[in-house]
Amino acid sequence: MKKTDLVEMITKNTCKWCDYDGLKLEDAEGYPHPGGYFVEEEEFPQWLYIECPKCGYAWALWKLGAPHPNAFKKENGHDH
Ligand SMILES: [Zn+2]
Repeated sequence: MKKTDLVEMITKNTCKWCDYDGLKLEDAEGYPHPGGYFVEEEEFPQWLYIECPKCGYAWALWKLGAPHPNAFKKENGHDH
């Protein structure tokens, strides 16, 4: 799975906190996090998010409609 595949699973682009409705998929960023997504491009699991340009809230991809990282744990063979 690639980062871009995950980003395309997002179904919402509205910030619930400030009603900004233009969250951009291409603005998704990530940092290494043990509970994050296993993406092909990175050595460590990545916690992926999109930051709201208006209020600054960092929206995790699963809060925007993408599957939660836990949904991928089994198929990757990781159970931690
Ligand atoms: Zn916002």
